[in-house]
Amino acid sequence: MTTQAARATDGLRITGLVKRFGDRTVVDDLDLTVHPGELVSLLGPSGCGKTTTLRMVAGFLAADGGSIEIEGKDVVGLPPERRPSAMVFQNYALWPHMTVFKNVAYPLRLRRLPKHEVTDRVEHVLGLVNLLHHRDSRPATISGGEQQRAALARALVQEPQLLLLDEPLSNLDAKLRVKVREDIRELQQRLGITTVLVTHDQDEALSMSDRIAVMNGGRIEQVSAPDELYTDPRTEFVAGFVGQLNSLPGRLVGGRLVPEEGLLTGVRPEDVRLIPVDEPGASAAGHAPQDRLRGRVVRVVPRGAFHELVVEVEDRTLHSLAVGQSLPVGQEVYVDLARPLLFRDGRRLQER
Ligand code: ATP
Repeated sequence: MTTQAARATDGLRITGLVKRFGDRTVVDDLDLTVHPGELVSLLGPSGCGKTTTLRMVAGFLAADGGSIEIEGKDVVGLPPERRPSAMVFQNYALWPHMTVFKNVAYPLRLRRLPKHEVTDRVEHVLGLVNLLHHRDSRPATISGGEQQRAALARALVQEPQLLLLDEPLSNLDAKLRVKVREDIRELQQRLGITTVLVTHDQDEALSMSDRIAVMNGGRIEQVSAPDELYTDPRTEFVAGFVGQLNSLPGRLVGGRLVPEEGLLTGVRPEDVRLIPVDEPGASAAGHAPQDRLRGRVVRVVPRGAFHELVVEVEDRTLHSLAVGQSLPVGQEVYVDLARPLLFRDGRRLQER
């Protein structure tokens, strides 16, 4: 399996992909390239077209336009079983009456591979996903995480050139989800298998992906590495969808907000710094008091490793993250905004 994945040179190339349902265009002229061995997530809100895109790549849904190439080969028009891809479904879609072994062997038996080869390959992937001890169990008698691994094994046993994961973790509880996403990512990197992951969960996308494609209304707004997506979002939508964002009308001049038509300043909660007005030296630091934003803490939400402080500034509410020190409700504060992101009509402006 490693050898087959290592032969990959082209990955996945989607160009001008379109899907309409009636007169609604749900995938709208979408371009995306996934390099060999890369894991790219399609991230976006419910209904933005993620699953529809994945189903067209897998061949379960016909495209209305555009091309899909896997390893340099146009697959549009081919049925799923003739495409060099394998998909893991959200609900796993395991056969309840078959053992884990038989479920995983199923795609190989459809291809009428010799019995000894089927056994070798199934045992190999069951070893990869740590499920050999459950080879004779039925799906209902193993845990959700184990069912998820069985579904992953059934995809991997086909030695696909492209692995497609449709919200593969959404049926797992929060703790198990973190563990399984680490396991999947580790295995995907070890096998070097080109992968597309569909998710609406930003933590999942940020922690598992080489790059993330943020989708909105059938289009991709930005494709970037996780860190870059957070620090250098190109649209207001991306900035608000990946991480939290305080949005303020106008632009920052000195320490103050100056209204300007069509302009919006975004600030991450960790960049909202609160200085108690009665702290010694508070007014000396930074701008003169009359040039600074002033507010009042109205709510304190413990979040474990930090506190989220809700601050009223003039007629707006800002969220601030405080690691370590918190402030009492009612505290009057100066509000310094660091690393502002400036947007005009939803698009990021690079100059300040
Ligand atoms: P979710 O995270 O909720 O699954 P998604 O981004 O995966 O969202 P899609 O499932 O791709 O979204 O759906 C995109 C849009 O297309 C939605 O508005 C959905 O209602 C619509 N849609 C999907 N399948 C069909 C269908 N077979 N017929 C008509 N409309 C459909």
